[in-house]
Amino acid sequence: MNLHVAKHPLITHKLTVLRDESTNSPTFRQLVEEIVMLLAYEATREVKTQSVKVKTPVAMAAGELLSKPKPVVVPILRAGLGMLEGMTKLIPSAEVGFLGMVRDEKTLKASTYANRLPESLTNRQCYVLDPMLATGGTLVSAINFLIDKGASDITAICILAAPEGVKVLERAFENSRTQIKLVVGAMDEKLNEHGYIVPGLGDAGDRLYGAV
Ligand code: URA
Repeated sequence: MNLHVAKHPLITHKLTVLRDESTNSPTFRQLVEEIVMLLAYEATREVKTQSVKVKTPVAMAAGELLSKPKPVVVPILRAGLGMLEGMTKLIPSAEVGFLGMVRDEKTLKASTYANRLPESLTNRQCYVLDPMLATGGTLVSAINFLIDKGASDITAICILAAPEGVKVLERAFENSRTQIKLVVGAMDEKLNEHGYIVPGLGDAGDRLYGAV
């Protein structure tokens, strides 16, 4: 697995405001969108393109356009939904699939409760959106779900990660033939006994959408 931890003062600044417990939901949502756009810039460094020629007002120019089939963006419900806007602003032509995963707060095990994805993901580049890589259980299940549908090139984008979750991911896919990349905004210290990232930002879904 290829891990990239973003190191950019703008991301650090936005993350600092995001972590602050006094930041309200509208500002939190706006910051998530902006951070995702910055992370997506790095995450899409190897997005597939094809060579084309275009006619400028002056001459012919050689260029590159996104290849078809277009990439598939997969937010993991519910908190991943808050990352979708930033991602689709950067790749408006991407297809969007949805994966609903829920974590049992006692066992911390993840299970799928909904999915809306293309029947086959063969030859598709997939970008999975999940703000918090905590125990890693949700992301491992989601990536396995995409691999079972044929995906061979998967990039996960997370705002924060705990070292424990990254290790779980590395172990789960160390012998996988699927190319897996993980792009995170920051690597935090640890998980607490409730499976929350420390210092983290609390419950990302609640901070985006309120506690429901
Ligand atoms: N999910 C969250 O929303 N926050 C954490 O800290 C861990 C998992």
